[in-house]
Amino acid sequence: MITSHETHVINDDEQDGLREKCGVFGIFGHAEAATITALGLHALQHRGQEAAGVVTFDGNRYHSERRMGLVGDHFAKADTLSRLPGTASIGHVRYSTTGETILRNVQPLFAELSVGGFAVAHNGNLTNGLTLRRKLIAEGAICQSTSDTEVLLHLVARSRRNRIVDRFIDALFQIEGAYAFVCLTNKKLIGARDPLGIRPLVLGQLDGKYILASETCALDLIGAKFIRDIENGEIVVITEDGIESIKPFPAQRERPCVFEYVYFARPDSVVHGRNVYEVRKNMGRVLAREAPADADVIIPVPDSGVPAAIGFSAQSGIPYELGIIRNHYVGRTFILPTQTVRNQGVRMKHSANKAVVEGKRIVLLDDSIVRGTTSVKIVQMMREAGAKEVHFRISSPPILYPDYYGIDLPDRERLLAAQMNLQEMCKFIGCDSLAFLSVDGIYEATNAGKRNPQRPQFSDHCFTGDYPTVLTDQIGESAKQQLSMLAEAS
Ligand code: AMP
Repeated sequence: MITSHETHVINDDEQDGLREKCGVFGIFGHAEAATITALGLHALQHRGQEAAGVVTFDGNRYHSERRMGLVGDHFAKADTLSRLPGTASIGHVRYSTTGETILRNVQPLFAELSVGGFAVAHNGNLTNGLTLRRKLIAEGAICQSTSDTEVLLHLVARSRRNRIVDRFIDALFQIEGAYAFVCLTNKKLIGARDPLGIRPLVLGQLDGKYILASETCALDLIGAKFIRDIENGEIVVITEDGIESIKPFPAQRERPCVFEYVYFARPDSVVHGRNVYEVRKNMGRVLAREAPADADVIIPVPDSGVPAAIGFSAQSGIPYELGIIRNHYVGRTFILPTQTVRNQGVRMKHSANKAVVEGKRIVLLDDSIVRGTTSVKIVQMMREAGAKEVHFRISSPPILYPDYYGIDLPDRERLLAAQMNLQEMCKFIGCDSLAFLSVDGIYEATNAGKRNPQRPQFSDHCFTGDYPTVLTDQIGESAKQQLSMLAEAS
C-alpha cells in the first residue's frame, strides 16, 4: 500500500527521462527519517533542480511525495513532512533537459511486488535501458514512466528468485551503464554502485543509523559521519541487524567519472578520497603551467570557475579578482528549456564588475565549455565592461563526446568543441586567446598518476571517447556514428 500526494503533470514528452543527472539519499531506522532525507537532498540540490521526491516506510505502508521544483519549495514544509511518517526513507533530486519533466518520471519510483513494496532512486543512466524497455513492453509490460529506472523495477518484479536482494542482483546482471541506486523495501535499505563505480555513492552514520548519499556534502549538512565510499560493483544491505556487503560481480578496477571533479560534485565534497575543491584548484594550477597568459588579473566565471581561478592565480602570481558577480536567485542556465531562453539566462545570472575589468588584460576562467553559450555571453560582457584583452582558459579538456552515464551533455552536433577546432572556437567566442587543460593535466590535478591508455583510471569518455561500458542502445540506434567515434578514439 502506498499513499502519495503529488503535484501535477507539466508536459508529456516521450523523450523525457532518457538522460538524467541526479542525486540520491537514504536513511534507515531513524525517528526523523523524512526530515533528514529532505535536508540531505537540499545539500545535493546542485545535482538536480527540476524535481524532488521522498518515499518513506512506516512499518506498514509506504508514503510518497514527489514534486516539481526545489527541495526547499516543498520538503521544508511541516505538512509535507507530516505525510511522510516512518523510520526508513529514500529521496531523489532530478535534473533532465531532454524535454520537460513529467511527474510520473520523478523519483523515487515505487512498485508493489509479489514479495512486498520496492522503491528505487537512481543516479546514472542505463546504456541498455531502451533496449530492455522495448523488450519488456513487447512481452506485455505496462510502463508508467519514460524513465530507464522503471526498467529496474520490472526486472526485479520478474525475477524468479525468492529473496528481494537476490532479485535485485538478478536485475543488476541484466542492466548496463552507470548507476548509484538507493532502494527501500519493507525491511531493508539497499545501495548499489555499478561494476565500474562511474557514479558516486557514500556510506555515513548519524546517531548510529546508516545513511547512503551521492556525496559527502549531504552527510556534512546533517552532522553525519562519513564511513566510506560504496565500492564499485558493491551492494550494501542495511537492516535492523546492521550492514552486509555483497560483491556479486567479478572484481575489476573502478573507473569513476572524472566530470564529478570538473563540474558535477560540490566543491566541499570528498569524492573517491579527494576533496573536490582541492582537485579544481590543482586543475587551475596545472592549466597556468600548460597555458600561461600575460595578464593583469584572473577572473573566474562564478561559481564553477572559482576554485580553478584561485589555483591559476596561485601558480601564475597574477592577482585573482571577482570581475563577474553572480545573481544567486536565478536557476542554473542549463535548466532553461530552450536555447533562446538559455541565452537570456546567462545575462540574468552574471553581471560584470566594471571597476575590476576596465582597462585590464584579463584571464577569464571557467570549468568547461559545452555548447559555448556561456562563453560567448561572458566574453562579450567583459569587452563591454572595458577589458583590454580577454584570454579564456578552461580548466578541463575540450568536451568532444556525449555522455551516456547520467551527466547531462548534448549530442555531438551541439558540443562546441566537437564542431570547431581551437582557432574557430576562439573566433566564435570572441576572445584573444583560448586554451583548455590537457587530458594528462586533468590526471595530474587529481594525483591519479599518468593516464593509463589501456585501462584509464577514470571514465574520461567526454574528453577521449573511451566509453567504459557497452553502449547497447546507442549502437542500436546510430551504429555508424558510434563506431566512427570509437574508431576515432582508439
Ligand atoms: P555552455 O554555455 O553550454 O558552454 O555551458 C558551459 C557552462 O555550463 C559552464 O559554465 C559550466 O560550468 C556549465 N556546465 C558544464 N557541464 C554542465 C552540465 N552537465 N550541466 C549543467 N551545466 C554544465
